Amino acid sequence: MNINYKSNPEPLLRNAYIKLPLGAVKPEGWLKSQLEVQASGLTGNIDDFWPDLVNSAWHNSGGEAWERGPYFLDGLVPLAYLLDDNRLIEKVKKWIEPILSSSNDTGWYGPVKNKDRWPLAVANKVLMQYYEATGDERAIKVLTKYFRYLHDSPPDWPHKDWRGVRAMENAVTGYWLYRQTGEKWILETIESIQKNGADWTTYYEKFPWDSAAAADKKIPHDGTPEGMTAHGVNNAMAIKYPGLWYQQSKDPIFKNAVFTGIEKYDKNHGQAGGRFSADEHLAGKSPAQGTEVCTVVEYMFSLEELYAIFGDNRFADRLELLTYNALPGATTPDMWSHQYDQQSNQVIVSAAKRDWSSNFDYSNIYGLMPNFACCLANMHQGWPKFVESMWMATNDNGLALVTYGPSVVKAKVGKGKNVTITEKTEYPFKGSVVLTISTDKPVRFPIDLRIPGWADSVTIKYKNKTVVVKGSSGYKLKEKWKNNDQISLEIPMDIRVEKRFNNSLTVLRGPLCYSLRIDKEYKNVRINYDNFSYKGSADWEIYPKSTWNYGLLISRENLMRGIKVAENPISKYPFSDKGDMIWTADSGKYITWDQEAPVVITARGIRIPEWIMKNNSADIPPLSPVKPEGDPEIIKLVPYGCAKLRITEFPVMDIILMEDIMKPSKK
Ligand SMILES: [Zn+2]
Repeated sequence: MNINYKSNPEPLLRNAYIKLPLGAVKPEGWLKSQLEVQASGLTGNIDDFWPDLVNSAWHNSGGEAWERGPYFLDGLVPLAYLLDDNRLIEKVKKWIEPILSSSNDTGWYGPVKNKDRWPLAVANKVLMQYYEATGDERAIKVLTKYFRYLHDSPPDWPHKDWRGVRAMENAVTGYWLYRQTGEKWILETIESIQKNGADWTTYYEKFPWDSAAAADKKIPHDGTPEGMTAHGVNNAMAIKYPGLWYQQSKDPIFKNAVFTGIEKYDKNHGQAGGRFSADEHLAGKSPAQGTEVCTVVEYMFSLEELYAIFGDNRFADRLELLTYNALPGATTPDMWSHQYDQQSNQVIVSAAKRDWSSNFDYSNIYGLMPNFACCLANMHQGWPKFVESMWMATNDNGLALVTYGPSVVKAKVGKGKNVTITEKTEYPFKGSVVLTISTDKPVRFPIDLRIPGWADSVTIKYKNKTVVVKGSSGYKLKEKWKNNDQISLEIPMDIRVEKRFNNSLTVLRGPLCYSLRIDKEYKNVRINYDNFSYKGSADWEIYPKSTWNYGLLISRENLMRGIKVAENPISKYPFSDKGDMIWTADSGKYITWDQEAPVVITARGIRIPEWIMKNNSADIPPLSPVKPEGDPEIIKLVPYGCAKLRITEFPVMDIILMEDIMKPSKK
């Protein structure tokens, strides 16, 4: 049991790792710039001009009293304290003070006119993070009173309503509060929520909304309890619910439901980069289907929670995939615009009819509030919560490196000794990682290093030792560390491919998926602003200006055949006052983020003239292998997150068949 941080006390199962309090892990390098970009973009500004936030009843201004304020704060609070940004911290205070003083004698809190428990489930997470960053005991008091209210009042978790389908979201804060206070009745509250909220465990076992249901259009798109279980964001949130309850029930049926659920998402609705389709509802595996941004950030948060419970490195592998592909893929590099639905094969971004299960025509534009404004309110938690969870505490008083990226952790190890570990790296673009320990006295503590599931072997060097780790998902270092000790890791960034829809292939290198780079024209449009004035934001349609219908010429036996990788030094980027806008490969009339992508893969492709658009998306890729006709051309692949137009699931042609016509092409 960790003596420095509060892990699960009896009677809960011991959690595999302990999440560190907000502020213990901070971003560095490009990741810090990313958070600064976010602070200069929508997150740091929308509450100054979006009426739903400007007039929010959550700060007593009489307006929107439901989820939008709490959603926004769930990202603003961690962003403000991770950057120690005084401007953002002042914003946090403006919101938090009225919330803290809204708690009434019954234990209910928030706007008086809100009677729904759902937005409080989000606000609970806001108060939890705020307490971790500030130590303000009032937050614990408000939460304890609210959980007491839930304990003493009748269950109100109807399965046709958000509060009932997402009831177990309260358990995230409930278990945290139990770890802080040790109040046993909190576990009774959670038990009652588990018993009366929607039954996601049975859902994952039976999984009624499979690919056949998607193909037969039998997946419900309504507000019935069944329809609610087909809703993408609900699925992304709910995947952690059986896992949360497993800590208290200790019944393996709940643990199994989590792993089974993820398997079923992949098998029936899986998309490149670890996502599942949800445009608004589960929608099958075609790369023309979309995934809502709320689904991405909620899936990320679920994986962060699941990692702490189970310590299974597959959760961290997927978390990196989502964070380093789907998250940046759905925003402009300056984070002033976002998509509602992103597509793996996204060849035109425009207001036009597409085959979404149940979203509006303008769902894939990069804009202020495409389709519906939930993502505008909820997208902010993605990057900051990822940073918070990059390092966790171990049960043997050490630290675990969960996900890679430039960061610094300041934490207590051993018998209460303060240490700092700085992680210097250009991951996920490059595979070299150097950890430097800083401590005033030598201290013995373990460091758990995750070995990514896709890495064949990882070379670790420390204290004049070299270890090559193969076939293992982790490696534990148990040493007495002194000031300036270094640990270096070489994580091989080999190219690999993943089989996808209709035998198509996605090219991956490390945790990044690579997509065809398409020339484009950005068109500044104005859609769905509800006629309020806006500041800095823009809606963008994007039109392709080069060919996209390429099949990939590839040798499955020798993937590097015909492929070249160029790593651009990311330190070279000239950056504006908005920080390093790294997730781009674009230039254009209206665009200031003109630069090469951090990694460019050169490969060969052949055009497939029959592969055309259907309903304003690239049609499903023709069944591979495709018989090659025509000459090979050089094509460029860039990270998915940089490619705002993209082909990610490529039809394939075998390079061996092409041997006789393989000539160096000069496109
Ligand atoms: Zn949304």
